[in-house]
Amino acid sequence: MATKSSIEWTESTWNPTTGCDLLSPGCDHCYAERMSLRLRAMGQAKYANGFQLTLHESALELPLTWKKPQRIFVNSMSDLFHHSVPVPFIQRVFATMAKAHWHQFQILTKRSGRLLGLSDELDWPPNAWMGVSVETAEYKSRIDHLRNTGAAIKFLSLEPLLGDLGPLDLDGIDWVIVGGESGPGARPVQPAWIHGIRRQCEQAQVPFFFKQWGGVQKKRAGRTLDGRTYDELPQLLQPREIHTPGGAGDLVTGRFPKSTTPLLVTC
Ligand code: SF4
Repeated sequence: MATKSSIEWTESTWNPTTGCDLLSPGCDHCYAERMSLRLRAMGQAKYANGFQLTLHESALELPLTWKKPQRIFVNSMSDLFHHSVPVPFIQRVFATMAKAHWHQFQILTKRSGRLLGLSDELDWPPNAWMGVSVETAEYKSRIDHLRNTGAAIKFLSLEPLLGDLGPLDLDGIDWVIVGGESGPGARPVQPAWIHGIRRQCEQAQVPFFFKQWGGVQKKRAGRTLDGRTYDELPQLLQPREIHTPGGAGDLVTGRFPKSTTPLLVTC
């Protein structure tokens, strides 16, 4: 059975690897690190190594067993492009995504240099959405790396937003997620930073998803921006009817021209 996710922009998670190493300021309060250590303390075998990068061969084909089409966040507890993940292993993750064509897969990395370096060695299926995280203006080069990959759908996760990002080049970008940091020690986000990103998304006609204000009590802070929620999703090409192993047809995958209504609805 798929692991349900409470993350607003996805539906379930799949972790063929677990563990990571802190890389940049956005990692300072890494949820995956906190959770991995907690799960190890609870005796969960998958987290016996705590937050140390670990490959899970047995998880490689899990999505093939999930019949219901869904959006799947790949490696919510790790970073697929961590230097310790061998290229053949990453290629096998991509092969599973291609085979499990009834799902949409969302991969997110901060290791955009390695992502770009490997892009030509990966077979990019149309149902793989590739994203990079950017927390401050200092890391905007990750967007350029992403733009030059072979991914069919490219997105930005501007979370935890830790500063004003200034002008963004959204050319070739299909989706933008923004959020403040949440949890213990959360660093506050400024509304002006978010307004600036939303304005640029509107100008560039890029779907904008406001995930949360964050803070120590994120539920109380909510996810309303100027009186409404922003749950936009990438616009998809021609919908096609696909048949899952269970036999039921479902509309998924592909991209519409930018002016049409998104196929996928909100979480
Ligand atoms: S890259 Fe992601 S998973 Fe890795 S330490 Fe940073 S926030 Fe955590």
